[in-house]
Formats: sequence, C-alpha cells, structure tokens
Amino acid sequence: SVPLSFFGGIGAASRQGILIKGSNYLEALNSVDTVAFDKTGTLTKGQFSVTSVTPVNDVSPEQLLQIAASVEKNSTHPIAVSILKAYSGKLLSVENSHEQAGHGLVATIAGEKVIVGNDKAMQQAGIDYVKNTALGTIIYVAKSQRFLGSIVISDEPKRDARKAIQLLNNRGISQTVMLTGDNQKIGSAIAKKLKTSDVYTDLLPENKVQIIKNLLQKSHQANKKVAFVGDGINDTPVLANSDIGFAMGGLGSDAAVEASDIVIMGDEPSKVSKTMKIAKKTRRVVL
Ligand code: ADP
Ligand code: MG
Repeated sequence: SVPLSFFGGIGAASRQGILIKGSNYLEALNSVDTVAFDKTGTLTKGQFSVTSVTPVNDVSPEQLLQIAASVEKNSTHPIAVSILKAYSGKLLSVENSHEQAGHGLVATIAGEKVIVGNDKAMQQAGIDYVKNTALGTIIYVAKSQRFLGSIVISDEPKRDARKAIQLLNNRGISQTVMLTGDNQKIGSAIAKKLKTSDVYTDLLPENKVQIIKNLLQKSHQANKKVAFVGDGINDTPVLANSDIGFAMGGLGSDAAVEASDIVIMGDEPSKVSKTMKIAKKTRRVVL
C-alpha cells in the first residue's frame, strides 16, 4: 500500500500547479542526477520575433515572408506562430503540406514545391542555398528547387531559466543538459547564458532519444535517474524514454501530457527543482 504521506506530497505539488501521475515518480525524483531540457518553449519563451528577412535578388522581402507565412499556416510550432505574426498580408493557397519534425515544412503552392525549414531541410532536398550566419534561428525558403532567401528569428530565455539551472545545481544536480534541434550558434549561446553543463544542437527527435538513452545508461550505472523536461512539440518520444518526463506549458499538447509522468502547468522551468524539493520532504515524512 502507498504511504499516506505520498498523497500529501502529490497534493502539495498540485497546489503549486504540478501534477504528478503517481507516488513512484515522486520517489524516483530523489535519485535524479541528470536533468535534460528541450530548448525552444521550455528554457526559452518560444515566442520568436523576426529580426531580418533576406531574399535573393529578384524576390522582395514581402514575397519571401508571404510564401513562408502561407506554408507555416499549417504548423503550430513556435517558429510558425512568429512568422505569421510578422506577416499581415494575404496568404497564398497551399496544398499537400507536410511537417517534418526537426526540419520544417514541405508544401505545394500553385503546383510548385515549396520548402520552408532549416539547413537540414535544404541539404536533404539538394537546394543550392546561401547559408545565413546571423545569430538566431534561421528559416530558409526554396521554391521549385530554387533558393529564395532566409528569415532570421530570435527567441530569448524565460525569466526564470537561469534560476532553474542554478536551483538544480544547489540541489547537487550538476548534470544539466540542453537538447535542441536548433543550430549550434544559437544553442551554445543560450546554454552559455543559462550555464547548463552540456548542450547538444542540430538534433532530430530521434537524436534526442539516443542522447537520453546514453544519459540513462550512465546514470543507471551509478543507481541514479534521468529527468527530461519538454514543452511537448516534437518531444513525446523523449518524454516516454526518460525515467521521469516533465511536460511543461500545461495542457497544450495531449500527446505530451499522455507521455509524461509529471505535468507542470504554466511555464516556469524552476518548478522542476520545486518538485524535487517536495519529493525530498515527502520522503522525510515516510522515514
Ligand atoms: P527545439 O529542439 O529547440 O525545441 P524543434 O525540435 O521543435 O526545436 O525544431 C528543431 C528545428 O527544426 C528548428 O530550430 C527549426 O530549424 C526546424 N523547424 C521545426 N519546425 C519548423 C517549422 N514549422 N518551420 C520551420 N522550421 C522548423
Ligand atoms: Mg521544443
């Protein structure tokens, strides 16, 4: 039978907007030595703003944004939301839209194949594109195999993201890992700002799963556990593979909530250490 005090811990957590799916997760939290975080929407606001639009010669910035926005209309990714916010003109009609996790989108506009995505998307399609080296997340656009230009968008860390890492360090958790599908330049800059101990960039969802598996192996050898914190978009497989999966941002993504063990309502990553604090107190009551 479950000690009553575990319910006490779950209750205390729920009053702080932290929903724990079982007392076993509360107990497991006491053994965590590694916490991995998704970047976009988890450690950063996930609210990008467009900072530059760089079309090739015969394309106008307006046209480039129109094509990108029309295709992104089919996505709920934070990148899509930001591009649609930056473009208020008329949208083109888009067909056959496919979202490819960690790459971007492919669609058809007036019979022409359009790709809106990152370096990997351009390389995979064999597009001869011009690399944009600005500091930010870069979205490239191609139509009928021709490169049309790039859009730079910037996101910023959440207000309590640095504190979230610091509080974990204070609890003796020195392994804090940032995982991102975003580029190396922006990924390292944010990891440096937040002082995570490790950062992995340019990851596809399956690469994130592989890194989690490696971290699990290392922690389990020391009888420790790995927690992962994600905002849901593309993170479901990673949440399902970690010892303790935290879904952030409330009930935004059903699949993420389903795959997670703990749901953090709202969007403060510092609630991860708060949950650990509750877990530790709960154990003390049991002993
Ligand atoms: P993160 O790991 O930082 O949360 P994601 O895994 O959601 O990011 O996405 C990784 C990368 O894939 C993005 O940085 C972007 O380059 C590309 N990407 C994903 N979705 C889109 C989209 N809707 N439009 C353009 N690019 C996208
Ligand atoms: Mg994300």
